Amino acid sequence: MLRSIISFVFIGFSGLTVAQPAVSTDTASDPRAVILIIGDGFDDQHVTMGRNFLAGHDGQLVIDALPVRAAVQVQTEGKNTDWVYVADSANTATTLATGVTTQMGRVGTSASDKDLTTIAQRAHAAGFKTGIVSSSSVTDATPASFMSHVSSRGCENPDIILGGELYSLAYAGCPQDATSNGGPGSIAEQIMKAPIDVVLGGGLIHFTTADPTSGKTALEMAESQKITVVTDPAMLAEADSNKRLIGLFASGHLPVRLQGSDGRVAEQPDTSALNKLDWRLGSVTQPDPITCEPNPAYRNTPGLAELTQVALDRLTQPDGKGLFLMVESASIDKESHVRNPCGSLGEIAQLEEVVSVALKYAETHPQTLIIVTADHAQAAQIIPEPSLYAEVPVPVYSPGHVARITMPDGSLMTINYATNGFLSEEHTGANVPLFANDVGQGLLPGFLRQREVHDAMANFLGL
Ligand SMILES: [Zn+2]
Repeated sequence: MLRSIISFVFIGFSGLTVAQPAVSTDTASDPRAVILIIGDGFDDQHVTMGRNFLAGHDGQLVIDALPVRAAVQVQTEGKNTDWVYVADSANTATTLATGVTTQMGRVGTSASDKDLTTIAQRAHAAGFKTGIVSSSSVTDATPASFMSHVSSRGCENPDIILGGELYSLAYAGCPQDATSNGGPGSIAEQIMKAPIDVVLGGGLIHFTTADPTSGKTALEMAESQKITVVTDPAMLAEADSNKRLIGLFASGHLPVRLQGSDGRVAEQPDTSALNKLDWRLGSVTQPDPITCEPNPAYRNTPGLAELTQVALDRLTQPDGKGLFLMVESASIDKESHVRNPCGSLGEIAQLEEVVSVALKYAETHPQTLIIVTADHAQAAQIIPEPSLYAEVPVPVYSPGHVARITMPDGSLMTINYATNGFLSEEHTGANVPLFANDVGQGLLPGFLRQREVHDAMANFLGL
């Protein structure tokens, strides 16, 4: 890993469009702040899994003490129909960031491929400090949707934007967005130019991948900008506070805190040969219980709460206007895709720590609106242990993958993943929860659409 700080000289932001002038709603002595915390895939199944594991079945999470709780309808435009009923992180983060619904895979762009100005861009133009923190690559769909505009979420660097192979499949890329075609460039290139004061997460690989035409990387292309790029968390404290800060602490996504014992994830119940012949016969053996344990790969990874604190410290100016900060706990979703509930639980623990940091900040900055929500629902569901039909003289088992987690109190919590039989689970279509602190009272009704979450934040900041 690079252990250096790379400094550049500033020219200016480009590609920024301002939707509307800011309405002054506040005084310099009473700055407004929005801290939006997105748990990727953090639906009520994951909220409950997290509560059971982290606080005990009779306990409560930090988010449970927040006074505002709402249900948020997730809306996704279809390509051939008006709506489809299951979303991805790109379209939902775009809606949270811009207030506009769009199609899956789109980052900061409308269904008609128009670039949509994001709340972070508008906040910056109105004088607020802005920050994006994520445990994923900062070029991944959720953070990218607040900082960039491409037609397809895979266009993370100047090579793949021209098309090629992605996940072993042919990928068209977004050639119309490439700089060589007069576009704004890949997500990494746009982040280097974005009006975001602090960007922290993973994804270094996308900033060091060269444009096949010019041979230049996103880092090299941004040499003319006044940015401090840090790849070692130990260097964060020394980073020049007068420059933009981009911290990239892993090649791809940041490692997760917890893993299953022996690296195990959910497994399919093992059925006897007789049962394979006839579902009413034979027997079934459930997977052995799993214990969640520290993931050795996480050891030197900066925690999401630590990164959030760094961002808040840098974005808070004594006489400043205020701030907009988005923090994403990304791997609740990513670990659910790979059927690793311990990975998701470690990320929920990190989200809880971020909420604590935000609440602490709000104690001394009372005009801070803290919103915790999810982008979409995910595959995991808590199922009975044992099955309700365990006494029936027929083997009853989940057709999906099952993880039986040994809880801190010795009980078993069984998580099932069954959206498909492929290598990666798929999202699900339930509405998602929203939690907010007291500042959100009166601003956020009990039921709202995802675009209205954006509108509430924008109104609060007077954008
Ligand atoms: Zn996902």
